[in-house]
Amino acid sequence: MSNVDRRPVPQELGGTEQVSSGPALDLLPGKEVSLGERTRVRRLLPTLGRRLVGAWAFVDHYGPDDVTSSSGMQVPPHPHTGLQTVSWLLEGEVHHRDSLGSDVRFRPGELALMTAGHGIAHSEQSPVTHPRYLHGAQLWVALPEAHRETAPAFEHHARLPGFTSDGLTATVLMGSFGGATSPGTAYSALMGTDLDLAAGSSVEVPLEQDFEYAVLAASGSAEVEDVPLDRGAMLYLGTGRRSVRLRAPEAARLLLLGGEPFEERLVMWWNFVGRTGEEIARYTEQWADEDPRFGDVDGYDGPRQPAPPLPPLPLKPRGRER
Ligand code: MN
Repeated sequence: MSNVDRRPVPQELGGTEQVSSGPALDLLPGKEVSLGERTRVRRLLPTLGRRLVGAWAFVDHYGPDDVTSSSGMQVPPHPHTGLQTVSWLLEGEVHHRDSLGSDVRFRPGELALMTAGHGIAHSEQSPVTHPRYLHGAQLWVALPEAHRETAPAFEHHARLPGFTSDGLTATVLMGSFGGATSPGTAYSALMGTDLDLAAGSSVEVPLEQDFEYAVLAASGSAEVEDVPLDRGAMLYLGTGRRSVRLRAPEAARLLLLGGEPFEERLVMWWNFVGRTGEEIARYTEQWADEDPRFGDVDGYDGPRQPAPPLPPLPLKPRGRER
């Protein structure tokens, strides 16, 4: 998806100031971002309280929305740079097209992973005939300096590895979890896993001590280390944990996201990740000028999505602190 903020605020991300030096339990309630009357999008990252979890730089949770009598998701061609988009559906179907010529429909349980790198454009639409409900998460991963100019790519993985144990069904989207490794290409040490908990289940799952983690309740509610987590909220877990305890009085779907703290400094605005305000301004200009950096999305019937007005970018180039 595209960043649906009409007036997105430039975000400075990265560095280690916000990384907890040990275990934490910080509740991030999320913020509603308006997208018309029908669609409710909750922004979990970045928020005022937290900007990154490992390289995870953006988390939107949308739906479930009844799209029976609407066209559902209609996101015109828009650009990305310097990041990967990880698209994950709990319900519905999405038709993805991009400037590489990809023309793919994906459904729940399937990973749509787009590496923007140097630059890409894509559109996302509910097919004309679509399932009743649309429910999912749009996640972005920041690319480290060594890979942020990589050639754009799109991967569709219809089958993902995972395991079932004690009422938990784990599906690994990115990285490794519990001995299963996703086929999705990752450019930093990170993980993302869907945890489907049966009603009444209580499990303890393994974590990497040097990763920081957060867990989002996408559906149902759960208790994470005894902290109640309602649907649509996220709990930051910090670092230094060997495991986390999960309890689901009712059936719940959680998304566990983690990774090595991301120390590089980033600037993120609208759908772009760069290193300076000047870079962001250049990407915006190139999108407006239909620069070949992004290419054309063949097969999409309609105009491209213009960038919102570029705000003053008080963002000076900053040294990368380590
Ligand atoms: Mn997008």
